[in-house]
Order: sequence, then C-alpha cells, then structure tokens
Amino acid sequence: FQSLYSATVIDRLLNEDAIIIGRLNCDEFAMGSTNENSAYGPTKNPLNTSNVPGGSSGGSAAAVSADLCHLAIGSDTGGSVRQPAAFCGVTGFKPTYGMVSRHGLIAYASSFDQIGPISKCIKTIDLFMRVVSGVDSFDTTCIFNKEHFNQMPFQPKKFKKIKQNIVVIENAVNHYSINKKVKELFLILLEKLKKSGHKITYINMPLLDYLVPAYYILSTAEASSNLARYDGIKYGFRSQDAVSWDDVIKDSRSKGFGKEVKRRILLGSFVLSEGYYDNYYSKAQKIRRLIKEETNKLLKENNFILTPTSPVLPFKIGMKKKDPTEMYLQDVFTVQSNLTGHPSISIPIKSNFPVGAQFIGNFGDDSNLISFANYIKSIC
Ligand code: GLN
Repeated sequence: FQSLYSATVIDRLLNEDAIIIGRLNCDEFAMGSTNENSAYGPTKNPLNTSNVPGGSSGGSAAAVSADLCHLAIGSDTGGSVRQPAAFCGVTGFKPTYGMVSRHGLIAYASSFDQIGPISKCIKTIDLFMRVVSGVDSFDTTCIFNKEHFNQMPFQPKKFKKIKQNIVVIENAVNHYSINKKVKELFLILLEKLKKSGHKITYINMPLLDYLVPAYYILSTAEASSNLARYDGIKYGFRSQDAVSWDDVIKDSRSKGFGKEVKRRILLGSFVLSEGYYDNYYSKAQKIRRLIKEETNKLLKENNFILTPTSPVLPFKIGMKKKDPTEMYLQDVFTVQSNLTGHPSISIPIKSNFPVGAQFIGNFGDDSNLISFANYIKSIC
C-alpha cells in the first residue's frame, strides 16, 4: 500500500534537506521484540548475525549499527526504539508523549506511541529533535511548541560541574529475569557514576510487577480498536476469494494479519468486552495512574531514573520463546515511560556490546536528558 500523504516528521526532515535513503524492517504493526514478526523475515543483528536485532524497530537499529545511515527513525510504544538500540549497541530515544507529531505514523496504541530517533551520535539525536518536534495541526496530542526545544541549549558539559541525583530501581536490577552480564555491566556503570560525584539512591518499586500486565492490557485494547479499519474495503490487503460483504472483512483480516497481531486483537477485544472491562481494562487504567504518580514523585526528588534497558541479551534468531507471555515479560523496564509519557533514552554501556542503560527524565525535559546521555557516554 502506498500512502497518499506523507508524515509530519518526514516532511520536516525533508524541509531541512535530510537525505532519506530507504525504509527499514520492523515487526508487523510494531508488535514484537525481535523483528521476527515481520512479513519480510527477520533482520540480523550486525553485532552478531546469528542474533535478533531486537524489536519492533529492529531494522532501524541494525541499519545504524551497521553504519548504513547516520540516523534512523522508529516508533516506541513499549520500548521499540530503546530495546533494539540496546541490542545493536547504539543509542535510542523515546521523546516525551506529545513532543513529536504522530501524523502519518500507523498507530499501534495511540496513547503510548512516540516516534523516536536511533543513532550512534547523541548530537545527531538532538538535532533530529530540534527539527521534528513541535505542535502540528494534524495531531492534537502534540503539546509542545517548536520553541520549547529550540531554546534549550545542548550542554553536556554542565553535568561535570552540577552533580545529579539518580534513582536506581533496585528490584529492577535484582529482577529474577536479569542476565548476569547485564547486571555486571550495569553495576560497573553505577560505580562510574558515583566516582564522578553523582548521588545514587536505591528504591524498591513494588509496582514494577504490574507494568507489563498493565501495558499489554491497555496497548492491545487500543490496538484492537486502531486495527478495526483494516477491513479489506478502504485500503490495505483484500482477500480475492471472498464474495459477500461479511466474508471480505473476515477473510481479509484472517489472511492479512500475522499471528502475533491476531493474538493482540483478540486480547484487546477481550479486555474491552462488556463482561471483562471492569476486571481488566479499568484496573489497568488505575495502575497506569499509580505508576504515573510514582514516576512523578521519583522525578521530583531526583533528576533521572536509571535501569538497564532490557533484562536480557539478544536471543538467537529462531529461538523466540514459544510462550508469548515470556516474550512480553522482557519489556519490563521499557514500558514504564510509555505508560507515563516521560522521555527515556537507552545508551550503550560498553561499546559494540548489546547492553543498554536506560535513563528516564522529567516530562518535557527531553533536551536535558539528551545532554545528560551525551555526558554519560563520555564517562562510559
Ligand atoms: N516489545 C513491545 C511489544 O511487543 C514493544 C512494542 C513497541 O514499542 N512498538 O509490544
């Protein structure tokens, strides 16, 4: 399907003479963590070609990691920019919700999605944000005007002088699913931060266990509604075998959607159904509010929240867990900032190694978070 119109982000990049050289692989409708849900087949991880690059924006992270481009764009609903960036040893940034227009982006879950950049160079990420951020009359969820970003200087040097308060979620670092190597590198980073004079505080966040369930209930509910438009009539895939009106819809959706997308439509329709709405959807909304309150509180007392980006190292291609719930649990650290809307960045802890550190910053304070990330890279 070829769209009749462009996306705001693409238009703004072209207006500044960016050179767009191609499009990249991703999981179908941005649903996945390995790129293996793509109809084109999986992308290989340039750091080790028998591994997955992460997902859903795995093609973007792989292209940057393999030096095919300076910057690639992805969309992040629950970690799809940050997790593949971590798996491919590059930097990925999810802006504050409402910082970048989503006009022209196919939504997975509208209240979670943000378009975000992946690059090796944080200054390039900063430049991208200056070009694409700002209100757009085509997307009423955009809340920041262009000046908001343009007036903020990129100033990594200030962090050498001004010490930061960083809060580490202890039950994330000691999470049952955490890989030994991930933990080891993360603890080395904490030591470096302390040595540089920053204050590290540890907290226990009991809500951590509720993040993945809340995310998958709410995001699939939104997806089941967003994907209703793919009926084989207006646009997209249309089954040639169907004759009646009912069959066109049923057959086109059955044949057109992949397994994971169907699973999520079913789950989303289930949690929104009359008998289960209160048990699942409204409870998840309440958890979303609680986690927002907790995150705001932590960021009132501290400058940044720090966790590993992913608890695991990249999987081998084809090793994808049979049990989808197990796969969903890998998103445990990235979904928090999509539930709350805060900006969040993943930076490689060690060069050419697939482990990332994730920093969450204050709402709307993206520029400061990007500057801080650049400083962190200099001490890594
Ligand atoms: N891995 C997450 C999921 O499968 C992230 C998706 C995303 O951010 N688009 O839902």
